[in-house]
Amino acid sequence: MILGGTTEARELAAALATRSEVETVLSLAGRTADPSPQPVRVRIGGFGGVEGLAQHLRQEAFDMLIVATHPFAARISVNATEAAALTGISIFGLQRRAWQPVAGDRWIPARTVPDAIEQLGTSPRRVFLAIGRQEAHYANAAPQHAYLVRSVDPVDPPLMVSAVDYVQAKGPFRLSDELAMLRRHAIDTVVAKNSGGDATYAKIEAARDLGLETVMIERPPAGSMPFVETVTEALDCIDHVVTSRRNRGV
Ligand code: NAP
Repeated sequence: MILGGTTEARELAAALATRSEVETVLSLAGRTADPSPQPVRVRIGGFGGVEGLAQHLRQEAFDMLIVATHPFAARISVNATEAAALTGISIFGLQRRAWQPVAGDRWIPARTVPDAIEQLGTSPRRVFLAIGRQEAHYANAAPQHAYLVRSVDPVDPPLMVSAVDYVQAKGPFRLSDELAMLRRHAIDTVVAKNSGGDATYAKIEAARDLGLETVMIERPPAGSMPFVETVTEALDCIDHVVTSRRNRGV
């Protein structure tokens, strides 16, 4: 079972769909109203914590759990580690590498979304808030700023600040579009999670090109399991387990 909600999870599921010796289930939290169709079986919704996940793993007799959730989805990653320990199932994580600052970047580090909002300071700024809809409400604590909020699904309830625009869009995003958007809205600060990967990196590049500050939220601690960074490495891990099971005649 792949715990998903990311591009990498979809790509891994697509690669496994072509393999007859592996039966794959992709698990989604159910946060996106209209998830893309998948070439493997999909189950949607939480499991009910560690115990629920462990029970599900046992009931469905899975051999392997792959945590390909977003780097900021900390709870499910920790739950997965604990459920794997309870059931003895093989587990590993697939998590893209974090972005690193390069010359020209003006990053302000933040530990969490509330910390990032605080880092904006007291003087009014024009902020591009690219952190998803679930935590956008933390911006209510700093109503002196004007916000442009981008998310896949609508922010509900809307923010309680006087100056806010919303844009609903799903990556990947292109540099030229990001530059045009930041200019059109006269943005002076970007707030982003250090998600890593290419699909949403263009906003970081655009901020650098325009000389804007980026409040970069660091990743929360993940569950303690071995991690790979690419779909190819994940496929190698799966092959390794499939081969050793075959050799043992399981
Ligand atoms: P979270 O805080 O780590 O998880 C909250 C709860 O949601 C979990 O305890 C679990 O419920 C359920 N859950 C999370 N991922 C699941 C999955 N793949 N399959 C089944 N249940 C899942 O996660 P989150 O930050 O709310 O993120 C939810 C989903 O959105 C994740 O799948 C993640 O990959 C995706 N996502 C998150 C972000 C982000 O910035 N956080 C960005 C892009 C995509 P139970 O305890 O009931 O099992």
